[in-house]
Amino acid sequence: MSVFSHKDFDHHENVHFHHDPATGLKAIVAVHNTSRGPALGGCRMFAYASDEDALSDVLRLSRGMSYKSAMANLPLGGGKSVIIGDPATQKTPALLQAMGKFVHSLGGQYIAAEDSGTSVPDIEQMGSMTPHVAGIQSKLDVDGRPVSGDPSPSTAYGVYVGIKAAVKHKLGSDLKGVRVAIQGLGNVGMYLAQYLVDAGAELTVCDIHEEKLNMAKLRWNANIVSVDDIFAADVDVFAPCAMGGAINDKTLPQIKAQVIAGAANNQLAEKHHDKAVMERGILYAPDYVINAGGIIDVSYEGPEYSAKKARAHIDGIADTLFEIFERSDSTGEPTELLANRIAEERLQLRTPEHSL
Ligand code: NAD
Repeated sequence: MSVFSHKDFDHHENVHFHHDPATGLKAIVAVHNTSRGPALGGCRMFAYASDEDALSDVLRLSRGMSYKSAMANLPLGGGKSVIIGDPATQKTPALLQAMGKFVHSLGGQYIAAEDSGTSVPDIEQMGSMTPHVAGIQSKLDVDGRPVSGDPSPSTAYGVYVGIKAAVKHKLGSDLKGVRVAIQGLGNVGMYLAQYLVDAGAELTVCDIHEEKLNMAKLRWNANIVSVDDIFAADVDVFAPCAMGGAINDKTLPQIKAQVIAGAANNQLAEKHHDKAVMERGILYAPDYVINAGGIIDVSYEGPEYSAKKARAHIDGIADTLFEIFERSDSTGEPTELLANRIAEERLQLRTPEHSL
């Protein structure tokens, strides 16, 4: 397994591997960039087919966190961790505590939060071994309702704000009557659906779990399609909210939507898809810009937490997107490329050439 020559290594500062035979923990922590602050990112647990798959995933996700925090103007770097194993059968308190010790051994350069396969109680379990965890603070939301530290509702709110901005830019309208296809009704997709319906949008949805589809039909009278048919759905907006790589050579030609804007990380399967999306006349909201709501909210955790301040910061996602869209219109460059350029300047990976 190559590390330094890995195609996704891409300026990583540190990559740590750990095996704890007593608990069966096999984990990787990738720290991409700490020039703006400690590397905050989720801890994913997944039954990877191979160690190589786990390494590729953690490197791509970790880099994405650096770019996400930089674009959201947070005093944080980018990192991510993966636990190799099936969360349904292999997750134990001892394994999570061992992960907590591993995170602690890194001295605070990496801060762990929830991700796919881990929950608030899991991160709390890790937090019994280290203070370097986040996304676990119970708090009051903007409406004064008690909520857990789960970042998903804030991520969904940020995606909603981003979809509104993209629709305004591309279609010149608000969301009333706008048709949105949501791929994946998970933690983020469900909250997003509610925001969209409240704003007057019409939903088409898919998921691999039947009960989520039944709920969407019952609650929102959503149009249900299969996981293969979601790409060709006759809609205005396609919102990928499942796994990465939704936009690829096979799916892109099927997409009828004029806007792609969703929560999933790494939506474009390959680098060249940013240009391919633009050439099809589709406006793409760079994933790490639009899905930053959760990390923005987590970054406000602490005794002084203010839901209003966090919410105002998340609302800023719209301004960042408008700037990227307008620049793309005037330069003819893809939105993802422009976002990368700005993030790299902020991460000091590139000399500033221009300002937005
Ligand atoms: P989740 O695991 O709760 O939800 C994913 C949903 O997608 C599940 O309901 C799953 O059944 C469904 N799904 C899986 N494969 C599918 C397929 N092929 N077609 C349709 N549906 C499918 O995850 P989440 O927390 O809702 O996150 C969704 C995406 O957003 C992920 O890519 C995640 O990395 C990204 N993201 C999440 C957050 C957050 O705060 N949760 C923050 C930033 C980015």
